[in-house]
Amino acid sequence: MDESVMASFWGPVTSTTELCEANYTHSSYIAEFYNTISNVPGILLALIGIINAVRQGFEKRFSALHLFNMILAVGSMLFHATLQLVWQQSDETPMVWEILLYMYVLYSPDWHYRSTMPTFLVLYGATFAVLHFFLRFGVMFKLHYIGLSLLCLPRMYKYYIQTKDRAAKRIAKLYVATLLLASVCWVVDRALCKKMTGWYINPQGHAWWHVLMGFNSYFANTFLMFCRAQQRGWNPCIEKMFGFLPYVKISKPEKKD
Ligand SMILES: [Zn+2]
Repeated sequence: MDESVMASFWGPVTSTTELCEANYTHSSYIAEFYNTISNVPGILLALIGIINAVRQGFEKRFSALHLFNMILAVGSMLFHATLQLVWQQSDETPMVWEILLYMYVLYSPDWHYRSTMPTFLVLYGATFAVLHFFLRFGVMFKLHYIGLSLLCLPRMYKYYIQTKDRAAKRIAKLYVATLLLASVCWVVDRALCKKMTGWYINPQGHAWWHVLMGFNSYFANTFLMFCRAQQRGWNPCIEKMFGFLPYVKISKPEKKD
């Protein structure tokens, strides 16, 4: 065993996926240091999203979306810090719930019967949680998740072509760009892991994946907030926070008594 590696507080690794980063190099409490701290930007972005949604009176579904992103990022932190199977698996059911919520946000404005589809989605989410708890889907989980994500794409694309605002369109493009770049980092980290561990500095592809996906989720939610504000006639516009971070600013028309 490498002399520089510290003792592990969490005991032996029980997770089924081990990542490229060397374990317990910085602290005996954190198995994978960079893969753990790289979730912090995602948590902060989700917090900014929640504050923005609540302060301006967006519908609760948007605070919930940001909250889900935060929960998933915290779950990811716990997983990479401990490399325990229980944390690896505890992220999976919330991931599916979040996608179901995205489906609701994307498709609900088109639904004719207001309560049928939400009821179906809630039952679907609950059934999935129970089945996944007992059966522990492996590859099936991934395929099911990809399938659900693909169902979101057509409506997302339709929103994109319907949006005339250039700044909002740019957020949609940033969403695609961060997703592609994050995927490249993830693949490179997996494919070249053996080579990179020999390098003086490991580029930490998986940590970059976390950072980029934190921004990716934020851009997705921001774009959807813009589209929803437009549907409701709230005159949305894209403003910049700290000079670079786009967010949706709305001005709801005065209510007449
Ligand atoms: Zn990860």
